[in-house]
Amino acid sequence: MQKEIISLENITKFYTGSEIPAVNNVSFSLKQGDILALLGPSGCGKTTLLRMVGGFESPQTGIVQIGEEKVCSPDVWIPPEKRDIGIVFQDYALFPHLTVEENVAFGLKKLNKNQVEKRVSEVLNLVGLEALSKRYPYELSGGQQQRVALARALAPKPKLMLLDEPLSNLDIQVRLQLREEIRDILKIAGTSAIFITHDQEEALAIADVVGVMRRGHLEQIGTPEEIYSYPASRFVAEFVTQANFLPARRQGNDWETEIGSFAIQGNHRCDTGEIMIRQEDCNLQPDTDSQVKITKRRFLGREYRYCLETPSGREIHARTMVDTIIPEGTFVKISIADDAVKVFSEEG
Ligand code: ADP
Ligand code: MG
Repeated sequence: MQKEIISLENITKFYTGSEIPAVNNVSFSLKQGDILALLGPSGCGKTTLLRMVGGFESPQTGIVQIGEEKVCSPDVWIPPEKRDIGIVFQDYALFPHLTVEENVAFGLKKLNKNQVEKRVSEVLNLVGLEALSKRYPYELSGGQQQRVALARALAPKPKLMLLDEPLSNLDIQVRLQLREEIRDILKIAGTSAIFITHDQEEALAIADVVGVMRRGHLEQIGTPEEIYSYPASRFVAEFVTQANFLPARRQGNDWETEIGSFAIQGNHRCDTGEIMIRQEDCNLQPDTDSQVKITKRRFLGREYRYCLETPSGREIHARTMVDTIIPEGTFVKISIADDAVKVFSEEG
């Protein structure tokens, strides 16, 4: 069985003077070698949580364990430099007066000169920067600087890497490329990591496990597939899947909406709610009796994206294979496999 690299138990943090916790009773654990993405909107407590794992903030309550070692509890406090972690920030934070190799060598104080050279060359190779080792940070692009920061953090072979929105400052193209590579780099290095992002695609693409945060809480934690397919709340569904939501009223197991009625099994406690319909689950059929109209069609290469207007004027979106070609202005019936529809009974 894989060992746990980190576990948090009931971590709560209030900043001085605030009555609302920045992090509210968060517990989770992560297996050795896994990458956890903490995903959530700005201000939901991601950075605060990461800083508590790193030892830069202390919680009012709770326990943090890294590997076998308790690093924070009511009677234990291990400072950041003794926690065996590597950190990468959004703004690179390189030493401007040191070259790439000097930056990377900075944390390798315990090694002799030969060992340092060997390790620096290994990690620069890993991040694809061996040719730029003599340059200074100002001679590098943002993406290259972030690779140096990654190499510097990985060089001492930390148990755990903490990355706080490391791609957020980069141009979209560099961001997409580094997104692909960063997972490979962490996997090759064999390091476990906690990766913060507010970008759902980034979280799903990079992580083995995704934790969705909202207002200091961890709303759901699971594999990218679990989070996407079985969102535990309306908030997770909306934040992660960008699905459509329609008000619905229950008649037995049927939920009636303005675009039709959907059978949803389960123990429903409420008679009203919202149903979630993913864009890619919609089947469109021209139907002159329907009151749902196609207002826009966009060709996206591998698929079409349709904008549809419901009788009440609500806009919903559908994505279809390229073999579904229906002109704008057509009235269509939307059908969805019953098991693809989900209902959220309360405003989550
Ligand atoms: P995120 O990283 O998800 O954007 P943060 O952890 O930075 O969220 O912030 C969580 C909450 O704590 C926010 O309401 C923020 O304003 C507050 N906060 C963050 N840092 C401090 C601080 N040093 N002092 C007081 N409040 C803070
Ligand atoms: Mg933050």
